[in-house]
Amino acid sequence: MHIRRDSTCSALMIALCFVLLPWIGSVAADDDRAGDREAMVKEQIITRGVKDPTTLAAMRAVPRHLFVPASLAPRAYQDRPLPIGYGQTISQPAIVAFMTEIINPGPGRKILEIGTGSGYQAAVLAATGAQVYTIEIIPQLAASAAARLKKLGFGDVAVKTADGYYGWPEQAPFDAIIVTAAAEFIPPPLIEQLAEAGLMIIPVGSPYFVQTLMLVQKQNGKVISNNLMPVRFVPFQRAEE
Ligand code: SAH
Repeated sequence: MHIRRDSTCSALMIALCFVLLPWIGSVAADDDRAGDREAMVKEQIITRGVKDPTTLAAMRAVPRHLFVPASLAPRAYQDRPLPIGYGQTISQPAIVAFMTEIINPGPGRKILEIGTGSGYQAAVLAATGAQVYTIEIIPQLAASAAARLKKLGFGDVAVKTADGYYGWPEQAPFDAIIVTAAAEFIPPPLIEQLAEAGLMIIPVGSPYFVQTLMLVQKQNGKVISNNLMPVRFVPFQRAEE
């Protein structure tokens, strides 16, 4: 019994290393903040109940301090969101990990993110081996995130500047959709672009008030939604007509 469990475990570890080592190798070189990330994972993420090994490995691998303005790099691994310019923020690490775990990313999964911001959430998803498409409405943020992702070895992430309300119809359907700005309602095109059995995580509610993080599932063409927890995100903006 023991031996069997061990061998399953090590097979899993080997499979995980196979998927994650190339990423870890490409992003972790010259990185002196691995200890800070380990502390972040232990103290902020595992303690809040995130268990998925793929998610935890991605949180350990992606150098969050290179996704914030240089002046804030010393605070990059604190338990808080940080400003990234243009009135936007990079989410708290624990929220990124929670949202990542729940959509079950990994090799072979096609994921759409709305709200690229710094590119950090997109990099975490890509580090799981998922194929990532991300949309940002502020052109300057989209451009800097795309350049940063490329430089850090996440050049496979597709970034576009657009109003994410409309999703990315040419690439649909998606196995999962993650929205990182709070919308007043779930944009119907995003539900449309979710694959059968797909999962969407989205904060819903009025800007500047407490919003609800919702998990939306498509099953047999029906949409089932669950409220997960109260959250606060920057507002989902709309392009001017
Ligand atoms: N995921 C980001 C944090 C995002 S903050 C990260 O890891 O850094 C939310 C982002 O959503 C902001 O950059 C904001 O400009 C963007 N946003 C707001 N409304 C949007 C919309 N309709 N379409 C695409 N992006 C949007």
